Amino acid sequence: MMDTQLAPPLHTSADPTYQTALSQYDHAVSYLNLPDGLIEFMKWPRRELAVNFPVRMDDNSVRVFTGFRVHHNTVLGPSKGGIRYSAHVNQDEVRALAMWMSWKCALVNLPYGGAKGGVIVDPRQLSQGELMALTRRYTSEILLLIGPQIDIPAPDMGTNAQTMAWIMDTYSMTVGYSVPAVVTGKPLNIGGSLGREEATGRGVIVCMLEALRQQEIAHSPKDTSVVIQGFGNVGANAAERAHELGFKVIAVSDVSGGLYNSKGLNIPELRNFLRANPRKLLDSYRGDADRLSNSELLELPCDVLIPAAMEGQLTGENASRIRAKLIVEGANGPTLPEADAIFNDRGITVVPDILANAGGVTVSYFEWVQGLQEFFWDEDEVYRRLERILVRAYDEVTHTMEVYNVDMRTAAQITAINRVAQTTLTRGFYP
Ligand code: NAD
Repeated sequence: MMDTQLAPPLHTSADPTYQTALSQYDHAVSYLNLPDGLIEFMKWPRRELAVNFPVRMDDNSVRVFTGFRVHHNTVLGPSKGGIRYSAHVNQDEVRALAMWMSWKCALVNLPYGGAKGGVIVDPRQLSQGELMALTRRYTSEILLLIGPQIDIPAPDMGTNAQTMAWIMDTYSMTVGYSVPAVVTGKPLNIGGSLGREEATGRGVIVCMLEALRQQEIAHSPKDTSVVIQGFGNVGANAAERAHELGFKVIAVSDVSGGLYNSKGLNIPELRNFLRANPRKLLDSYRGDADRLSNSELLELPCDVLIPAAMEGQLTGENASRIRAKLIVEGANGPTLPEADAIFNDRGITVVPDILANAGGVTVSYFEWVQGLQEFFWDEDEVYRRLERILVRAYDEVTHTMEVYNVDMRTAAQITAINRVAQTTLTRGFYP
C-alpha cells in the first residue's frame, strides 16, 4: 500500500532552472493517475553530495573550489549525467539537470537513472595543469558516488573528453586497475566510442528532420534556414551536420556574440578557424559574415531555431518576438515555462530537450556497453542505432501528444515519467 501522506518538500528554491524543472514535472504528472507518495518520491533527488576541496595553482597558491554530484532517480539503473564546469553552476541547477537526465534516459529507454555534477569554476581561467589537478581532486571527492554500476559521468558545459580521461585515470588509480566504463565521452584511445563527440548535435538534427517532415514546414534543405545559439559541442556539431545535409545555417553564436549570413555560413571553415584560434571564440572571425548579438540572433526570422548554449534563453520577455517556425532544444532547459505557454499559443512547436538532445546520452550508453564488453563498433553502426532509438522515441512522443492532447514537452515528460513510475511500482518500495 502506498502512503498517501505527503512528505514536506525537501527544497524551496528560487533558482529559475530548478523552478522550470519542478513546474514541468508538476504539470506532466497532473495527467497521470499516480499515487501521491510516488509523485513525491520521483520529484526529489535520491542523494546528493556537496564538496569543498583545495587545488594547488600554478603560482603555488591554494584555491578552494565547490563541487556537487546529484543522483536524482536510480530506479531504471545506474545514474548517468554530465559534469559541468561553470562560474554560475549551483546545487539547484545541478538538481534540475539531474532530474532532466532521469526523464531523458527513461524517454529513450536506456537502463539508466539521472544524475549531474558541477564545479563552480570558469575553466577558461585555469591552465591545463590546474584543470587536471581540479578534476582529479573533485573525482576523488565524489568517488564514493561514482562507478560503472553506480553512476557514470560524461562531459557537459565546460568539460570535454580530456576531462573524462582524467576522471577515468583517477578512478582507475584508486581501485588499482583500468575502469574505462566509469565515464563516457572519453577519448577514443582509452575506450571512447566513435561518434560520441558528434552524437548530441547529430541527434538534434535527427529530431529536426522528423519535425520538419511531420509538420511540412519546409520543402528542401537548401530553402530551410537554421539559426543556432551556442557553438560548443552541441551547437557546432548540429551546425556541421545541418550544413552537411544542405541546410542553410544562417546564424551561429557563442559567448562572444553571433555571426550572420543570409545565404548561409561556411560552417566547416568556421570550425577550422576555431580549432586554429587559441581564444576559441567567434568574435575574431573575419570571414563572410555580419556580427550580431545573442539576443538579436534568437529573434532572427528563420525556419528552425536551435538554442544550444544554456538554460533560460527563451523567456516570457522575448518569446513573443521569436520568429522561428520550429524550435529544437539542443541545450537543457533553454525555454522557461512562460515562454512555452506563448509558443503554444502561437502554434510554434518546441521539440523538447529531453528528446532533442538525447543523442549524447544514447551514444554514451553505447560507449558504456562497448567498454563493459571490450568490443567496439564502427561509426556506421553507432549512427544507425542512434537514429533508430531517437526516431522511435520521437514517434512515441507524437503518439502521447495525441492520446493526452498536449504539447510536445508535456508528452515527452508524461512518457518518461510514466516509465519510471511503472518500473518503481513493479519493483515495489524497499523494504
Ligand atoms: P560547450 O561548453 O561545449 O559549449 C557551450 C557553448 O555555448 C559555447 O559556444 C559557449 O561560448 C556558448 N555560450 C556560453 N554562454 C553563452 C551565452 N551567455 N550566450 C550565448 N552562448 C553562450 O557545452 P555543450 O556541451 O555544447 O552544452 C551546451 C548545452 O547542451 C548545455 O545546456 C548542456 O547541458 C547541453 N547538453 C550537452 C550535451 C553534450 O553531450 N555535451 C548533451 C546534452 C545536453
